[in-house]
Amino acid sequence: MGLLSQGSPLSWEETKRHADHVRRHGILQFLHIYHAVKERHKDVLKWGDEVEYMLVSFDHQNKKARVVLNGEEILEALQEKGERKNPNHPTLWRPEYGSYMIEGTPGQPYGGTMSEFNTVEDNMRKRRQEASSLLKENEALCTITSFPRLGCPGFTVPDYKPTPVEGGASKSLFFPDEAINKHPRFSTLTRNIRHRRGEKVVINVPIFKDKNTPFPFIETFPQDDEATQAAQPNHIYMDAMGFGMGNCCLQVTFQACSISEARYLYDQLATICPIVMALSASSPFYRGYVSDIDCRWGVISASVDDRTREERGLEPLKNNSYRISKSRYDSIDSYLSKCGEKYNDIDLTKDKEIYERLLKEGIDHLLAQHIAHLFIRDPLTLFEEKIHLDDANESDHFENIQSTNWQTMRFKPPPPNSDIGWRVEFRPMEVQLTDFENSAYVVFVVLLTRVILSYKLDFLIPLSKVDENMKVAQKRDAVLHGLFYFRKDICKGGTAVVDGCSTAQNGTETDTEEFTLMSIDTIINGKEGAFPGLIPILNSYLENMEVDVDTRCSILNYLKLIKKRASGELMTAARWMREFVSKHPDYKQDSVITDEINYSLLWECNKIANELSECPELLGSGFKKAKYSGNKTGSSS
Ligand code: GLU
Ligand code: MG
Repeated sequence: MGLLSQGSPLSWEETKRHADHVRRHGILQFLHIYHAVKERHKDVLKWGDEVEYMLVSFDHQNKKARVVLNGEEILEALQEKGERKNPNHPTLWRPEYGSYMIEGTPGQPYGGTMSEFNTVEDNMRKRRQEASSLLKENEALCTITSFPRLGCPGFTVPDYKPTPVEGGASKSLFFPDEAINKHPRFSTLTRNIRHRRGEKVVINVPIFKDKNTPFPFIETFPQDDEATQAAQPNHIYMDAMGFGMGNCCLQVTFQACSISEARYLYDQLATICPIVMALSASSPFYRGYVSDIDCRWGVISASVDDRTREERGLEPLKNNSYRISKSRYDSIDSYLSKCGEKYNDIDLTKDKEIYERLLKEGIDHLLAQHIAHLFIRDPLTLFEEKIHLDDANESDHFENIQSTNWQTMRFKPPPPNSDIGWRVEFRPMEVQLTDFENSAYVVFVVLLTRVILSYKLDFLIPLSKVDENMKVAQKRDAVLHGLFYFRKDICKGGTAVVDGCSTAQNGTETDTEEFTLMSIDTIINGKEGAFPGLIPILNSYLENMEVDVDTRCSILNYLKLIKKRASGELMTAARWMREFVSKHPDYKQDSVITDEINYSLLWECNKIANELSECPELLGSGFKKAKYSGNKTGSSS
């Protein structure tokens, strides 16, 4: 989850005093990088995925599933056995926000050949096996997006009580500080977000109204005025960063061949974020209740919302410089490519001084405003030992601001003095239960970037419409019932869209005829006479590619999963979990996930992940390839 520095973290008051210093030097660091590598061309496609995992313990006797707070030790052991012994080790492990979480990536990025698509799932399996082998009996590595009883009494092993007192990091009524990763970055982030905001974070998720759910559904917190005021009727109230950043996701990062290709991909993929998020929906339960949303996005957004009351527009501006319309964790606010310019219809708050400075240094308007927008934020953590840096050779201050802007897409300049190119990160997806599904979503997105570039596809629509799509995407069963703005004619890019724009698009007013509302099924699978569909386009791309039989078979299986999820033939994890709970004998149609329901659900998830249970509603049947067929990497024919 971003930059990890070692050292002594400063308090919010001290960090704030250095905020301008961090921003000033962050910009200098960016300028050094930009001028050194702006002309870099011909980097090859490389890409990699990130999977976040939870450590879960099963108490079969008492029918309880709880998160295990030993991610730090597991991580240490994984790194010790892996990357520290062998620089070519096939997996890499990193910490994540929860002390019950870890994050795994492939040891080396994947390259541009088709056969690499056939290695993703094996690598994910390797990760699962590696980490699982270090766990105790009755513990499991789970790829679930949100732990259903996160924040409920006794949800951790060991058991800790929350400490809603001054001096704590979260001050949460529900989420103990011990569940936060022990690296000081994470508790400092938590504390400083709260201090900067001036109050605890507030997360209100609409509750799913079942037959016996009290109406209105009102929770009272007699000991806590802040909570009583913040909790909304008919909502599940949460009050800590852990309720958001303690969720798991699936991300993909691409290296583009040049800065302009990276900017182009950033824009194109931004329009795809809500669509793939809805397709990957897997987080319907929060704090022991059934909610009315299927995706984590808004929850994390609120969980790290450090804006003051002034910045949120609740009080006149006095001590702060801007009104800010979104949390630091949110959808992007501006397109970066020339083609995107005319669709930039969101009011962009930017640091004027930084913007002017960047222009003066020869950076174009679009990139300058992007950076100047990220830099309206304060640094949230700063380490005493890391205040004075060598701006020509280090980038910590730039990364400090950059990596705490958690947006749907991230545009990533190369690190200083490295052979890494310009990259973009695709961040909206929810993590799936199995390695097969996670591979399918990753391969789908990577293939999509290939056709976007090869066929010069154009998905751009006004960015405000993408924002509307983000809202729809999180709703319950958005895959089946949601309607999303999507571009009607995606093939008219014509020429040279990467470095410029086709002439037809320049300067003209946004034509409302360019986009229309579509279902996910139409967008993904196409509709006769209306829209070609992304899967048919990918299939025709594949037909024209030389791919070995084994790889082709895997890719087709992945695409089939996506296709069936989009058509509703297969369920999303969110839908499947809802059905599981509603049929559970302990469920009282009152929107409550009891310990026993939580236990049965997670145990079933664990069986599915380890292929001990088939779950055709989620995975279909008969399209898994024969695994361990011996020819794992395949070769291009
Ligand atoms: N866990 C966060 C999410 O679900 C992402 C944290 C990160 O940026 O690695 O979106
Ligand atoms: Mg992460």
